Amino acid sequence: MNKKNISVIRTRFAPSPTGELHLGGARTALFNYLLAKKSQGKFILRIEDTDQERSKEEYINNQYNDLLWLGLKPDESPFFESKHGPYQQTKRLDIYQKYAQELLDKKKVYYCFCSKEELAKEKEEYLVKKKANYQYSRKCLQLSPEQIQNFLQTKKPYVLRLKVPQEKDYGFQDLVRGKITFQGKDIEDFVIFRSNGFPLLNFAVVIDDHLMGISHVLRGEEHISNTAKQLVLYKALGWNSPQFGHLSIILNKERQKLSKRDQTTSEFQMIYQLRQKGYLPQAIINYLLFLGWHPGRGITQEIFNLKEAIENFNLKGLHTQGAVFTLEKLNWYNNYYIQQLEEKEFEKQSWKVLQKEYQLAEEKKEWVQKIAFLFRPRLNCFQELINLSRYFFQEPLQIDLDLPLSQLEKLKETKELLTNLEDWKEESVRQALQTVKNLFPLIRRKLTGQKSGPELPKIIYLLGKEKVLKRLKLKS
Ligand code: GLU
Repeated sequence: MNKKNISVIRTRFAPSPTGELHLGGARTALFNYLLAKKSQGKFILRIEDTDQERSKEEYINNQYNDLLWLGLKPDESPFFESKHGPYQQTKRLDIYQKYAQELLDKKKVYYCFCSKEELAKEKEEYLVKKKANYQYSRKCLQLSPEQIQNFLQTKKPYVLRLKVPQEKDYGFQDLVRGKITFQGKDIEDFVIFRSNGFPLLNFAVVIDDHLMGISHVLRGEEHISNTAKQLVLYKALGWNSPQFGHLSIILNKERQKLSKRDQTTSEFQMIYQLRQKGYLPQAIINYLLFLGWHPGRGITQEIFNLKEAIENFNLKGLHTQGAVFTLEKLNWYNNYYIQQLEEKEFEKQSWKVLQKEYQLAEEKKEWVQKIAFLFRPRLNCFQELINLSRYFFQEPLQIDLDLPLSQLEKLKETKELLTNLEDWKEESVRQALQTVKNLFPLIRRKLTGQKSGPELPKIIYLLGKEKVLKRLKLKS
């Protein structure tokens, strides 16, 4: 790489399309995006789909669309090819093949013809004797050129293994964690390529990061052991490695690794789920920004839009300790951004959610939007509108309350007041009910089935006279 290239920051997000974009992936994408954009660099999306059995085309599209929705548009990607492409690993097989051959020619990798069964047996026998730290025995390193030729001629399946120099140390300055060192003797001769023409992840990642001119790699801490292997590969290929930073793990409230099985959060871990529930991209971005990063000591600002996030982002603020995912904080952000929405946008989004749920006719739009505004201040996400406003669209459960006579009288009085009210406006409803204010909790129960909620005169006005009188009916 020449000097000019090195000064340009190029980061990448490299998902395997084996599922939808989740919070952890989105956070990795965000930090890489911010790092690049902070210095007018480039943010690249690379699809790592060499695991053919688990990869699906629809996940590639969905993950890309989720990134766009979040505002993290890649500068280069399979959807926007550029000179470093193709950006999808299954379209780069000939490139991996070429470098595998080069390593083979230089005797840095060797053919291994051991079958799965042989390897399993070898491992089992080893563990009986030594208990731990099994590594491949390097048996196939002893094969003679004739034996190798024979096997190749008979088309015996093989893999290529990297001959890891046992006596060397491999260290790097982690951008988040400081110096990390590995010893060659602890790294197995790992597989980089299979005879079916497919590379293994670590090999493909190294080739791609190098050829795509990636300068910085921010990724989850679960990749630290991959980094060790990748460093050996960089050395073997005679290339400089990018700089690596390993992000803290995301934990649940019990401080265990966030898992799909977590009951409270399982429906909130995927970006498409949050989208469906009516979370706003700016809220998710702001929330993710603080999931493992902090702007610095003494800085209390919690609200950052994407532009401010770019300006303020720095590697120093990345934490090593686990970042705890809490729904409360996500909701807090989303509630905040819902209050900030332009009225028109708020109306549009609420109508979309309620129309779909209650199959409402177009002429109800204005009325429905007024209802939505009643709940806006407390809304954590748009989908909550459905339950909060249900009593406007469906009859609430009738609660039969044993009322003392005095209350029954008052209720009758209320009904009369409302029956006689000709000018059905919020203000006139409010005026009419001045004298029965202490009955409001009871009226609310009868009209909505709820003990609390938005201001009662507003509810009464929006429910409309007919519904109100019907619901206030007493059992005779
Ligand atoms: N494709 C890998 C994954 O989905 C990421 C590899 C990397 O970031 O180096 O976990």
